[in-house]
Amino acid sequence: MPDGQTDLVLLSQFFALCTTYSNPLYFRYEEGGDMSWSIGFDSTWNRDIGYGVPAECDHPDCHEKIDRGLAYVCGGEPYGGDNGCGLYFCGKHLTAAGQLCERCVDELAWFEKKPDVKEWVRHKLTDPSWAEWRLDHADEVARMKKEDHDDTNG
Ligand SMILES: [Zn+2]
Ligand SMILES: [Zn+2]
Repeated sequence: MPDGQTDLVLLSQFFALCTTYSNPLYFRYEEGGDMSWSIGFDSTWNRDIGYGVPAECDHPDCHEKIDRGLAYVCGGEPYGGDNGCGLYFCGKHLTAAGQLCERCVDELAWFEKKPDVKEWVRHKLTDPSWAEWRLDHADEVARMKKEDHDDTNG
């Protein structure tokens, strides 16, 4: 294949990939122009996702620290794709083939989601990058602050 044609094929593959993951919620341009799946929002489970979000494995018996990036999502895609529940699990609680949790392997009712880790709640409540979000979500901020306070005081 002549060089120009190879480039064209690579380019078309690149654009196919972009179209697959074109949901703007899942991408934002980081400084330097790299497109990455850092922070997004899962409207099914109603929580923040992406590799920028620290979390605990959603398996009820597990406290492994993970993040909500693609490497940990049941189903291998945001929202879980066609076969997964879209919850987030550590390596021990996902199958190697298909990247599924035990409930989805057996097609049982999904696990409950776990709450966000404190580290993440406090980040959202204090970090400048969430200042605008806080202005738009006063009710949720109040709720988060209350829960954080209640937790701290037993
Ligand atoms: Zn699952
Ligand atoms: Zn786990």
